[in-house]
Amino acid sequence: MDNYKNSFNLSIRNNIFDLFPGYNCTSISFKKDKNGEECDEFDAKYLYIYLEQDKEVEINTPYHCPKCNSTSIRRHGLFEVEIADTPIGDKKVILVITKPRYKCKECQKAFFQDIIFKHDQYRMTNRLYYYILNSCKKIPLSIVKIATELDIDRNIISRIKNDLKEQNDIKD
Ligand SMILES: [Zn+2]
Repeated sequence: MDNYKNSFNLSIRNNIFDLFPGYNCTSISFKKDKNGEECDEFDAKYLYIYLEQDKEVEINTPYHCPKCNSTSIRRHGLFEVEIADTPIGDKKVILVITKPRYKCKECQKAFFQDIIFKHDQYRMTNRLYYYILNSCKKIPLSIVKIATELDIDRNIISRIKNDLKEQNDIKD
């Protein structure tokens, strides 16, 4: 099992920069339930992937305050966010992302940079959002099925389905 985990780990690490630009994978863990205890890959329903913003990317990214535009900012601790990603095999995937928080020296506003692969309205990656949109197209009535399969609140799936209606991609 350890060998499997190591090779799985390695293949994720090798692909991480393509999948999640600007981030490195620090570790992975398999869990039976959301926020549950770690378990063997075989028993796991969830794969947790821990990501940290790449130091070099951080240093080379010019930051400015979103409120007053000042470039006079300082680091102000770390921020951790969990977002859902598309399943890998039979595992649901949760990304645990650690990134720096900043504070403006001029106006004191605390902020952090956007995560480019995160959807701006939902706690999920852009690619999971499009995965759900496409699922809604394929089986337009089965919100419950999609919600159960991905273990995502059915209200969220419904909202995404409404996004689809607004785009006029499906007709009632
Ligand atoms: Zn400011």
